[in-house]
This record gives sequence, C-alpha cells and structure tokens, in this order.
Amino acid sequence: MTYAYFKGQFVPVDQAKISIQNNTFQYGTGVFEGIRAYWNSQVRQLYVFRLREHFARMLRNCRVLTLKIDKDEKELCEITVELLRKNHPETDTYVRPIAYIDSDGLGPKFVGYSTGFAMYTIPLGDYIDSAGIKVAFSSWRRINDNTIPARCKVTGGYVNSALAKTEALEHGYDEAIFLTEKGFISEGSAENIFLVGGGKLITPSRSEDILEGITRETVIELARDELGIETIERPIGRTELYVADEAFLCGTGAQVSPITEVDKRPLGSGRIGPITAKIQALYFDVVKGRQKKYSHWLTAVY
Ligand code: PMP
Repeated sequence: MTYAYFKGQFVPVDQAKISIQNNTFQYGTGVFEGIRAYWNSQVRQLYVFRLREHFARMLRNCRVLTLKIDKDEKELCEITVELLRKNHPETDTYVRPIAYIDSDGLGPKFVGYSTGFAMYTIPLGDYIDSAGIKVAFSSWRRINDNTIPARCKVTGGYVNSALAKTEALEHGYDEAIFLTEKGFISEGSAENIFLVGGGKLITPSRSEDILEGITRETVIELARDELGIETIERPIGRTELYVADEAFLCGTGAQVSPITEVDKRPLGSGRIGPITAKIQALYFDVVKGRQKKYSHWLTAVY
C-alpha cells in the first residue's frame, strides 16, 4: 500500500482526492516542492537531500502568496520522514509536497480561504539524461517577477515551463532554455543553468526570474569548497552560452545534466567538460551519502 499525506492524515494515495471545483485545481494557486531521497544500497539507507532547505523555501514562497500552512519547518520534515517510512521505498524516490487552497470557492484570490497541505512520494530515476543533453533557446520568455514570481514555485507558473518544454521536445531537443523579457539567460524549464568560462562558473543572478534552486546553492558551495572554483552570479547574454567552454543544467529532478549542444551548435568540445564531470561526480557522491563531510545535508529515513 502506498500512502499520501492529506488533510492531516496518512491515507492510501487513491483516497487523497480533491474536488474538480477546487480553487487551486482551477486557477493554479498552489505552491509546491520537489525533493529527492536517494537509496544507498551499500548501507541500505534512504537519504533525503536538504529536506529542511526545501521546506524553508516552501514556507517562504507561501508567504509571498499569503498561503498559511498550519505546520512549521520541523513538523513538515517529520511528516516527510514518517510518510517515507510508511511507504518504505528501497529505490531513489521523489517527494512532492503541495500547499493549496482547500476550498471550492470561485474566483482567483488568496484571501478568505484556508490552506491545505498534501504530499506524495513516487520512485524516480533520472528525469533527464545525465550523459549530455541538447538544448535550444525557447520562443517563450520566462515569467517575470511582477507577473508570476518564478522564485515561488507556483503551480500555475509551470504553464510557462510546459510550453517551453513541449516546444523543445517537438523540435527534437531535450530541454528548453528561457530568456528573460530583457533577453538575458534565465533557466531551463525545471533547472538552473551554469556556464563554465575561464575556469569559473557563471550563473544567472537571482534577479533573472529564476527559481532559487537548492541544487544551484549546492553546486556553488561544492565548487568553491571542494574544487576551489568561484561562481559569478550576473546577467548572461544568449551568445555567451554558444561560446562557453562547458555548461550544465541542475535541479532536484535533473541533478547535474551536462549540455553538449545548444541551438544545433556543439557546446565546447561537444562532450561532457572536465569541470562539469567533476561537479557531477561530487554531487552524486554527496547525495548518496558517500561524502561524510556533507552528511548534515542528508536526513536518514530508516
Ligand atoms: N528552476 C525551476 C523552474 C525548477 O522547477 C527547478 C526544480 N525545482 C529548479 C530550477 C531547480 O531547483 P532545485 O535545485 O531546488 O530543485
């Protein structure tokens, strides 16, 4: 039996249902998270990666929308661990919490409604190919902070991602890269982007309508502390990606995905670059619990 957390209880997932009249279903007024738990078969342990940081971000994002989850960060972490223990996966797993408007009220607004919280888990391997992907700039621009804040991981905002990803797939690419309204590089449909140039990492700053990724923070810290590589956060022009030495996407789902081609141009050598390869290997070591130094980022479930 697979359980979900729904309306304050653990229930079989097929009983965790909302009405078709639900306000968030109709208007996309929810805030969600995507969390990974990694199965380490050597020590037979499931490690949730940066659990607290995910709920801290979710609670911050709820504040922007004025959604009010009736649980604090610690309680949300405890519910996650309990749900995983109940489902007891022995494989890499994805955890999806969502805060939503728990009302069938008509009309898009956040006032006058109570906030619901639900969560489910599913097995998840690679979301996109970690061996090298082909990307293209999207004809769709990134939603900007004064329309639907990208930083808030709002359910309705993912129409933007879906349009871009669909266009990319239909044109034979693996992933889309968004530009901002001003024409600077923002991010992928569900990933942050890093370029490598002159031995440094370069990534769009927080003002470039990005989701402030937890993997992005992780990469910046690992590159600095383990490889002595600095990250520059700044606006990045489109053609900087064409001439970058290396580039990769990163995110909870995508993990570290090297970009080997952009708009039909080979990126760098057209193969995984040396710095990207090092960061990718480090990342997998850390999330799988093979780097003791970073065990404070892991929550052991069993
Ligand atoms: N950007 C977008 C639009 C995303 O949906 C995600 C996935 N959550 C990311 C970036 C990466 O964020 P994180 O590393 O926190 O998963």
